[in-house]
Amino acid sequence: MKIALATGNAHKIKEISAILEKLGSFTLLTPKDIGFTSEIEETGSTFEENSLIKAKAVSDFCRLPAIADDSGLEVDFLGGDPGVYSARFAGVDSTDEDNNRKLLHLLEGVKTEDRTARFVSVITLFIPGDLPKIITARGECPGQILHSEIGESGFGYDPLFLYQPLNKTFAQMTAEEKNAVSHRAKALENFAKKAKESLNLS
Ligand code: IMP
Repeated sequence: MKIALATGNAHKIKEISAILEKLGSFTLLTPKDIGFTSEIEETGSTFEENSLIKAKAVSDFCRLPAIADDSGLEVDFLGGDPGVYSARFAGVDSTDEDNNRKLLHLLEGVKTEDRTARFVSVITLFIPGDLPKIITARGECPGQILHSEIGESGFGYDPLFLYQPLNKTFAQMTAEEKNAVSHRAKALENFAKKAKESLNLS
């Protein structure tokens, strides 16, 4: 099945393609492949709403099924923030560095055991038609926010996110290690199960 991917984030494209490839049955087209260049406004207040907004916008553009990921970091001490605002935590045009700096600032003085957090990813497939079909799946990965950055790989909050079972940050893990345990991997696995049942894929 041909599916358009509703993200231009090169890291996400890599992670989603690597995981979906293993699951078979899907040929992914990037926004570049379909000529989609618009910015999609994420006006939802949940990951579910935003991933549907993104998948539908791309599907409306190319008339193909489209898949989107909306993801972010929830920090317990901050009442679940930055949540759906993870990408723009320090402002509309904020960089990963700006966001990480703001997060560390807000957690200054907070004890290690109170720095619990989780990454969340929600994957939505929108299949256009007279009766559009929507398949949504969520994945979460628990961890802890460090007091300073460690590691060079990955993107976003990876250098601050300690994955305790391996005692490594996401930025210290190889792509294979991260893809085996990440919120996005779990969401994609849940998604693949649901998609296979609901679309009768092999
Ligand atoms: P989205 O593009 O609206 O889904 O924004 C997701 C934001 O959440 C990213 O810009 C990152 O700041 C953060 N994020 C999501 N997944 C990850 C991850 O795997 N590692 C690090 N940061 C992530």
